[in-house]
Amino acid sequence: MSADFSFKLQATLGHARAGQVTTPHGVVNTPMFMPVGTVASVKSLDAQDVQATGAEIILANTYHLGIREQSLYSLEMSGGIHDFMHWQLPVLTDSGGFQVFSLGAQLPHNSGTIPAQVDDSGVLFRSHLDGSKQFFTAERSIELQRTIGADIIMAFDELQPDAFTETQARTSLNRTHSWAGRCLDHWNKHGRLSRYGKYQALFGIAQGGLHKELRRESVAFMAAHDFDGIAIGGETIGYNSKGTAQIMEWVRDLLPNDKPRYAMGLGRDLSDIALAANIGFDMFDCVGPTRLARNGALLFGEIVFDGTTFRVDSPFPRGRLAIGREQYSKDLSVLDKNCDCHTCRAGYSRAYLRHLFRSKELSYYRLASIHNVRAMLRAVQTVRLIILKNGVGE
Ligand SMILES: [Zn+2]
Repeated sequence: MSADFSFKLQATLGHARAGQVTTPHGVVNTPMFMPVGTVASVKSLDAQDVQATGAEIILANTYHLGIREQSLYSLEMSGGIHDFMHWQLPVLTDSGGFQVFSLGAQLPHNSGTIPAQVDDSGVLFRSHLDGSKQFFTAERSIELQRTIGADIIMAFDELQPDAFTETQARTSLNRTHSWAGRCLDHWNKHGRLSRYGKYQALFGIAQGGLHKELRRESVAFMAAHDFDGIAIGGETIGYNSKGTAQIMEWVRDLLPNDKPRYAMGLGRDLSDIALAANIGFDMFDCVGPTRLARNGALLFGEIVFDGTTFRVDSPFPRGRLAIGREQYSKDLSVLDKNCDCHTCRAGYSRAYLRHLFRSKELSYYRLASIHNVRAMLRAVQTVRLIILKNGVGE
């Protein structure tokens, strides 16, 4: 931690936590959902649209920006990602660890195994854009993140699939820990600063798949080192709710109270916000809400607290209104009369939104994405208020 970065736990309610993360670009109230701006853009939204949803931090992807050489050059000329995309609030970048394994390919994806070539030095892979050969290491990941200039950066890790045997998982975890140490060294070597002279907080990523002992060992390792926050990564997190909750149960007692806890890839819809709160994560991100919007699933519901747990109250299955359904062609009511997003406040009807969706009109993607991102942000704001009102102050 430094004067430019801190975390303050304000209150707890069961495992749920409310806190504040202070960064060089402002304060993030937690729990917080972070919309994903893969290539310095939250799909179909501009920075003003995103800010109007109440988002206080966004995520950008080091892999996607790093393999676009010209774009990275433009970003650097702009003085970093904030000025590049006209977003003056906090930004977090992932390390590229997830994408080099999920998107970078040495061989066609047909074997069911990880196609990138990995050894202790780093990962050799081909760009999914143009097939060019790329080599990511712990040091290169930190360098790219220093160039992007986010407020919070992540240590480079090896994505550990759930299918790994214990032996494979052990080898992989040792590598992730060795890379975490190299990231810390490289970060310290450059004074923990971006290329633009601003403090960058570094979070470690605990892996370990579905192996309890490895998960505990990994969280203990990250907690023992000088990271500003601790993330939980891996295939299960955000993809499998039960697995995510199970892993959190295994490691919770090892997580320091005074550091933010980040679930990587969690936050597909409103039910994941209830989950994140119930199991005690402070920060989480997912492409889910904007992807669901583009596919015609509009988030609909409110978060309620029943005295012990948070849950979603919604008239629709899984809290999703399927706007493409024929019934909405005759429905002139506003999308969600209880929603305060731009789309609903402006009064766009379900019939009109269905028409735009069916016609694949570009304006649909913006209006639907604004609604879904706002629904997520309203949900975390509701959770936070409930924790502050009913919880135990720190
Ligand atoms: Zn709305």
